[in-house]
Amino acid sequence: MTAHSHHAAHPHSTQDALLHAERLCASRGVRLTPLRRRVLELVQSRAEAVKAYDLLAQLSTEDHTAKPPTVYRALDFLLAQGLVHRVDSLNAFVGCNHPDTPHAAHLLLCAQCGRVEELHSDAMDAAIAQAVAATGFAARHARLEVQGLCAACVAAAG
Ligand SMILES: [Zn+2]
Ligand SMILES: [Zn+2]
Repeated sequence: MTAHSHHAAHPHSTQDALLHAERLCASRGVRLTPLRRRVLELVQSRAEAVKAYDLLAQLSTEDHTAKPPTVYRALDFLLAQGLVHRVDSLNAFVGCNHPDTPHAAHLLLCAQCGRVEELHSDAMDAAIAQAVAATGFAARHARLEVQGLCAACVAAAG
């Protein structure tokens, strides 16, 4: 049983993440088109969650063909490939640094700096699965979004 968190996105690893995504898509036989790649780059370059609206605003200054449906389709592709996670409570997206295997990404949301971290906990997943199964409910997936302060903001406030 392990529990660990890490930064979901990290500015210095954006290029690494893009290279990784290119290799992953090639191995899966799916296309990381220039727009999909650019959307991923914009999401990965931020430690905070990024709203589709902000992506559209950014892309429209670069490429006037980037209309909302195109950007939403690019996001759907990135979600389906596990390259980004949706942050439901913020209606926004964060990059994933380990998209190779599907995983339940619980998210820790810092109210102070906006950083989003992933939390992986086998113990938590097992506890949720057990508690839900006891009700007879057939769960498809369960993902928690925890609001609070990140370790850096706690330290700064201390
Ligand atoms: Zn992830
Ligand atoms: Zn913070």
